[in-house]
Amino acid sequence: MAGILFIISAPSGSGKSTLVNEVRRLVPGLDFSISYTTRKPRGSEEDGREYHFTTREEFERMIAAGEFLEWAEVFGNYYGTALSALDLASAHGTDLLLDIDVQGALQVMQTMPDAVSIFILPPSPEVLERRLRNRSQAEGVANESVIETRLAEARTELQKIDDYKYALVNDILDQAASEMRSIVLVARGDATPAEGDLAAQCVTGARSPRLESALHSFGVTIRNV
Ligand code: ADP
Ligand code: 5GP
Repeated sequence: MAGILFIISAPSGSGKSTLVNEVRRLVPGLDFSISYTTRKPRGSEEDGREYHFTTREEFERMIAAGEFLEWAEVFGNYYGTALSALDLASAHGTDLLLDIDVQGALQVMQTMPDAVSIFILPPSPEVLERRLRNRSQAEGVANESVIETRLAEARTELQKIDDYKYALVNDILDQAASEMRSIVLVARGDATPAEGDLAAQCVTGARSPRLESALHSFGVTIRNV
């Protein structure tokens, strides 16, 4: 039987990979879909671990052959989720996490309406900038224009937050990880009342004070839902 599909999106540098790793440590039975990308490996990334690194030619062949659940062009590179990732999770009997951008997420929300969507955001643009800088220093690449592009892109992506069922502010890692764990347990029907309450506070439409504060700091106009 196919498991639950979790769609996770976040502006680059929000701490999504860190958070996803932490949640997978806390909750068993969560597979991570390894996407295909045409971008080059970064830092210590390895082919087949973070991504399947491939060429534009091979990616375009896969598009034409209908091998993707979704795909998008992000920062000038292709990224996509292969349909085979769903088969693999199904064979393992696990739920599946898709770490995909907003364009890909909107495609999956259309084709798989039962998928549970989660948007992760940093508490403020200042914190996002600091995390982007720290990461690029740690990886030995200091590229100002990449940081500027990603900050601008973050604002655009945040405009789509109301399309996601849940919104998590990744301020304190442990707190955000417990929130995401609760969301997974609620989707599985395994949550205690306290975990259910925690997940309910993260519903995007509930507009928690932390969410409102983060959106305000990015200058995102708050729609009443
Ligand atoms: P993403 O996957 O969203 O691009 P990363 O997981 O690579 O982001 O995180 C970006 C940087 O921020 C990394 O250096 C990471 O260690 C740091 N980071 C992530 N979450 C937190 C947090 N809650 N508090 C402080 N630093 C964090
Ligand atoms: P990065 O290059 O920082 O790893 O990822 C850049 C962006 O591409 C992130 O927003 C990430 O979520 C997105 N991304 C990664 N894999 C996929 C994918 O398979 N499909 C889509 N649509 N986006 C992806």
